[in-house]
Amino acid sequence: MNVTEIITKLTETQTAERGELIFLLQHITDDECELLRRTAQETARQHFGSHIYIRGLIEISSYCKNDCFYCGIRRSNRNAVRYRLSEEEILSCCDSGYALGFRTFVLQGGEDNRFTDEMLCRLICTVKSRYPDCAVTLSLGERSFESLQKLRDAGADRYLLRHETADKQHYEKLHPGEMSFDNRICTLRRLREIGYQTGAGFMVGSPYQTPENLADDLLFIKDLQPQMCGIGPFVPHRDTVFCDAPPGGLQLTLTLLSVVRLMHPRILLPATTALGTIDPRGRELGILHGANVVMPNLSPVQHRKDYALYDNKICTGEEAAECLQCLRLRMRAIGYEIVTDRGDYTEG
Ligand code: SAH
Repeated sequence: MNVTEIITKLTETQTAERGELIFLLQHITDDECELLRRTAQETARQHFGSHIYIRGLIEISSYCKNDCFYCGIRRSNRNAVRYRLSEEEILSCCDSGYALGFRTFVLQGGEDNRFTDEMLCRLICTVKSRYPDCAVTLSLGERSFESLQKLRDAGADRYLLRHETADKQHYEKLHPGEMSFDNRICTLRRLREIGYQTGAGFMVGSPYQTPENLADDLLFIKDLQPQMCGIGPFVPHRDTVFCDAPPGGLQLTLTLLSVVRLMHPRILLPATTALGTIDPRGRELGILHGANVVMPNLSPVQHRKDYALYDNKICTGEEAAECLQCLRLRMRAIGYEIVTDRGDYTEG
């Protein structure tokens, strides 16, 4: 099969063989990229019209007990400035986010033991009772099954845990030996079973990644069937093992967004901040390639720059309202409109 035929197959059957995915990633031409883009954009349009969902991202802690080789807040980075938001600060981010129209709050952070189950459950209960019309999304890394269950019982609706790479050998090149690929995958599957709307995802262009790895990422998503998929380019951070590695490519990231859209017509697919970081029009291009979510930052401005997963992260100086307004204008300029409903996953 040639690339055009593979794109047709993806559109008609929502899947392809591993060899076909690898072939597409290796051989796609500029014209075929444009065909793929148009098809993915049309697919998103059929399901979501011109609507773009927003998620308010609150970065609750830059402390992390893990040491992922690519991440700027890894525990061995002595230059990282550490902060942790208080319950009051987090609630105040939600208050201002709610007033701006956000109906999903994403609490993301490093793996920080100070965020105990008890404290998080209280926080989740408070947010859910103050704003019964809002979804609470957690993105706090691998916690015990017991902990994830408690947080779910307390009212958390969704959980984002990127698998990072679906290949165990590749995973082990990106993480220290104390971290376990199997545990990450098991945790993801458990999240789905417990009833979280679950987000998996991966970096594009991470060190040692091959087209085979990316095909496996796509097939892993096909198998897991998560409600969300976070895809962004790897971006180096100066204080990490991979400080000198090149960033992930713009076009390759966009191609993967489009392929995921064709394989999962209704999936919630963000145009990520990392994509906006490697190109000034990255997020717009993401939307034009089939993404349908943006995640403006609601974190307190004084801490923004300290949640530095990678270098040159955008939007670290602006207030939430400015970020939202900026995105609203950017989306409008390409014919899309930010909407304020919760934007839950729905079956076709
Ligand atoms: N501690 C949480 C949240 C991680 S930060 C967890 O383990 O899930 C969210 C995502 O940022 C990560 O899943 C990773 O895919 C991404 N990320 C981290 N470092 C990055 C880098 N250098 N470039 C691009 N993305 C990065």
